[in-house]
Amino acid sequence: MENKAEIVVHSTPKNISHCLCPDCPAYDRCMETKGEILYCSKGATVCELEKKGCFCVRCPVQLEHGLVGLFYCEKGAVKAIGNRRVY
Ligand code: SF4
Ligand code: SF4
Repeated sequence: MENKAEIVVHSTPKNISHCLCPDCPAYDRCMETKGEILYCSKGATVCELEKKGCFCVRCPVQLEHGLVGLFYCEKGAVKAIGNRRVY
């Protein structure tokens, strides 16, 4: 039987306030207008993405959750399937 994917990062006020995406050079007007944030939890952007580096590597949310991924705005939310994390 296939294991169900589970959410790794929850959309809490604390995680939202710690997300560094709004300060990232890739975070543009479209993302801001749509109120996007916390891509590692909520999923990828609906905006056209121009990659200009990624702040996730030094984000407190990433560190607190033991994550190692980048560009969640492109790849979408981190999921856990059993003990495995899918970036
Ligand atoms: S890891 Fe990236 S997407 Fe997730 S909260 Fe931090 S800056 Fe935002
Ligand atoms: S996921 Fe990374 S690249 Fe995308 S907006 Fe957030 S910090 Fe920037």
